[in-house]
Amino acid sequence: MNIDSYLPVKIVSGKGAAEKAAGEISKLGKRCLIMTGGSSASKSGALVDAERILNENGILYSVFDKTEQNPLTSTCKEAGKHAYKFGADFLMGIGGGSPLDAVKAAAFFAANPNLEPDEIYSDRSLLAPPLPTVLIGTTAGTGSEVTGVSVLTDSTGKKKSISGADCYGRIAVCDYTYTLSLPYSVTVSTALDAFAHETESFLSLKANTISEMYALKGLELTYCGLDLLCKTKALPDEALREQLYYGSIFAGLAINITGTLFPHTLGYYLTEKRNIPHGRACTAFTPAVFDRYEKYAPEKLKTIENLLGRDKREILETVKILTNVKESISYEEAKQTAESRTGTVNNFVRTPAGFTPEDEINAMLSLR
Ligand code: NAP
Ligand code: FE
Repeated sequence: MNIDSYLPVKIVSGKGAAEKAAGEISKLGKRCLIMTGGSSASKSGALVDAERILNENGILYSVFDKTEQNPLTSTCKEAGKHAYKFGADFLMGIGGGSPLDAVKAAAFFAANPNLEPDEIYSDRSLLAPPLPTVLIGTTAGTGSEVTGVSVLTDSTGKKKSISGADCYGRIAVCDYTYTLSLPYSVTVSTALDAFAHETESFLSLKANTISEMYALKGLELTYCGLDLLCKTKALPDEALREQLYYGSIFAGLAINITGTLFPHTLGYYLTEKRNIPHGRACTAFTPAVFDRYEKYAPEKLKTIENLLGRDKREILETVKILTNVKESISYEEAKQTAESRTGTVNNFVRTPAGFTPEDEINAMLSLR
């Protein structure tokens, strides 16, 4: 058995989690920069809760609400500059994966005002440590609340992540009630992201006893939600929202140990070039993941089928209907994309039997 893992973020969960975390938050300082997207922080009710807690604890704050989806390194730099000028002691991200990932990067820019946007990818051991962050999630998908990963978009439009011990939040506020305002399409795409995390993590060559526990617990919660979303085409009730949210956190805990596999690398391409939301872009490659299970980890596939009470064909059918990605990628485009990858792609190395340029071309062509 192997239970190697590292989780320095304090997780505070459940209805009213922000209130529960207030004491810990107030220890982080007297000035806070809040980073959000355009409207989700307000719509979810999380911003009003955060503002109340900061006011009650005598913490001055300023709001930066310009975080876009698939956040740019330049936006993180702008927020970091804002935090630096404001004299922030800590930052708070409120939103889905985009604002949460962005605030993790903004915390570096706040502590290193001369750092240029894409320099965030260079050797961070030479930098001042980032300011502490509070992460308040409003989607049930990425699990960014609990991962030491921040996925950013560089100045060339490429999605690239940073990760490490310095990329964790200090406090994660995990209150599923903030996801009640999610529209159907975002609910589906984010739940599919969690499903991708669970199935990729469980198959990963880096999986260990504890990551497998997280992945299977997450899968049980997430798939039940996906099944209902597919059958009813309706918004989940509160109990299902809670289930989907915790599913995404278990999924985040799983990938925090194992990383993700090839669907995430290929999915980034679909998001960059075809504007497909992250979750659906990843599960477009779920059939290829299940083929790997069948060939290289049939006992794990059986475990999933038993857990969900569905066979491979039924699981894939649900995922396919919700994913709904049909892209006609030409052989030339697929070949060029595969050939443009240089160096080691960790997501490919962690995949059983690896992932060759030919595998990549086949996976891309299968989307037609
Ligand atoms: P998102 O990009 O944060 O948000 C998607 C949309 O949902 C936005 O329009 C957002 O509005 C809206 N929204 C969010 N919460 C809402 C709520 N409670 N009510 C109503 N609308 C709401 O989506 P995401 O899927 O959570 O994050 C995707 C990003 O996370 C990608 O960049 C992906 O690469 C990354 N990711 C990170 C990790 C990790 O470990 N760090 C893992 C997987 C994926 P606003 O624009 O107003 O906020
Ligand atoms: Fe993801």
